[in-house]
Amino acid sequence: MSTAVKTDKQNELQAQTTQLRRPHAQPTILAVTPTPSTLVSNTQAELYSRLILLSLLSKYKDRPTERDAAGEKQSELIKYRRDFLDRLSYLCDIDKFGSTVTAAALQKVPAFNILWLAANESFHPGVEEFVHRIIHHVKSVTPESRHDVEDTMLEDAVKMGMPRLRFYRDKMVDAAIKCRDDLKQYMPDDQALKLRAWLRKMKKLGMKHLGSKKVVLMIELIKRCEKESDVYMPYLRERDVSFPGNETNGNCYADMKHFVARLRAHVYSVKDVVKASLLTPSLRKIGEIKVEPSSEPRNAILPDRYLNPYRTFTRCLAEEIAPMRISVLLKSVTEREASLDFDSASRKHSQITNTNTFITRVHAEILLADLFSRRNFDFVDDDKYIGCSKPACYCCARYFESHPKTKFVRPATHNKILLGWRCPEPNQDLDIRGRGKKTIEQIERTMNWTVRQHLMEKLEEGGEPIEFHWQSTNGSVRDLSILSGRVIPFRGR
Ligand SMILES: [Zn+2]
Repeated sequence: MSTAVKTDKQNELQAQTTQLRRPHAQPTILAVTPTPSTLVSNTQAELYSRLILLSLLSKYKDRPTERDAAGEKQSELIKYRRDFLDRLSYLCDIDKFGSTVTAAALQKVPAFNILWLAANESFHPGVEEFVHRIIHHVKSVTPESRHDVEDTMLEDAVKMGMPRLRFYRDKMVDAAIKCRDDLKQYMPDDQALKLRAWLRKMKKLGMKHLGSKKVVLMIELIKRCEKESDVYMPYLRERDVSFPGNETNGNCYADMKHFVARLRAHVYSVKDVVKASLLTPSLRKIGEIKVEPSSEPRNAILPDRYLNPYRTFTRCLAEEIAPMRISVLLKSVTEREASLDFDSASRKHSQITNTNTFITRVHAEILLADLFSRRNFDFVDDDKYIGCSKPACYCCARYFESHPKTKFVRPATHNKILLGWRCPEPNQDLDIRGRGKKTIEQIERTMNWTVRQHLMEKLEEGGEPIEFHWQSTNGSVRDLSILSGRVIPFRGR
């Protein structure tokens, strides 16, 4: 192979003609039996013990946040490309429960761009081919073929995402029935009558399809959700705010709002992918798709001294801290003793950690962040953004902001505190003179410090814990549910 430096024109030509290459790495198949057990280091154990105490005080550190806006320079282009990475990841994430959460990033190499993908646990076997078909459309779509491409891509995406969409459809029907039951109890006004009629229509449409795997019926339903929900979402939101929920109907208006938003998300995602393809030249230069293998699940074992939340608290106090602050903290803790109740926290803690072990993984977006940083990969246009099918959890957000080497764009964040999180491991094969190991240790130390700060703030401020909000949107402003929703019990992330 020639090593001669190519001209820009040659590079451009090659970018246009490069066929998509097969990925070098194969998707990781999830092992049936976990996993090596690891006694974690003192720094990691301290981090986990603080996370456990923080999660006992509040499941979420904060309300959801949106990703950082692009700077002024070429901001539209950057926005479309970030949308593309988020939406493509969303279409690949076909399991409802977290195992297929997908991340995507774009690497710049001299002649073309490489699309990198990673999943929390594994990809569905068909996803790889699915992404190849999407990238084929990305490279060939024109303004004239736009609507045809959207239809073709949507059909493909619905086939791929059918398990998830069927789940949302069934939940939407259930919520529509409950909303109608609730509305019947009141004197109907004009808005209530319109809402009831729409709910009836949605229920009928959904029920007609119950048990069906027909793609064409699902497309009819999700397109209806897209076309009509902007009219009815405000009604649902109004009812959601005034409706406290009850034993019979739960929070049916919030549920209806959420599941309609999830159903229409496929339509929005496909439209955003096609729009970005037309407007962002860097996407047409994707010449290769690669998959970073998922991390193995691993049992983290905490030494006994990290299992007691009260001892975690006192260790935090023992670190350098202003005496005035200690007295404020102690006063706050004393006043809130009943709600804090360290004995009961200890029992809860034992349940959470299954005495002293819990399974950890490296989340998909961190796999790519670590890969790019460790190998000094260049991001396209130096936009250090990792797209993801879900907003980042609390720990991933802390990882991004703690990275000493790469200033990543802050992603949308749902801020849930998840214990099954771990930092990437040092890798002797990839690390140059131990620098990767040092970076990871530095991230863990910074995260430890930040989590301690947040823990102390939570203890000081008291107040109601932040309980529920939806996690499954990726921060799109069009996903109205993220603005005022609640969350349903959710496994995984
Ligand atoms: Zn995460």
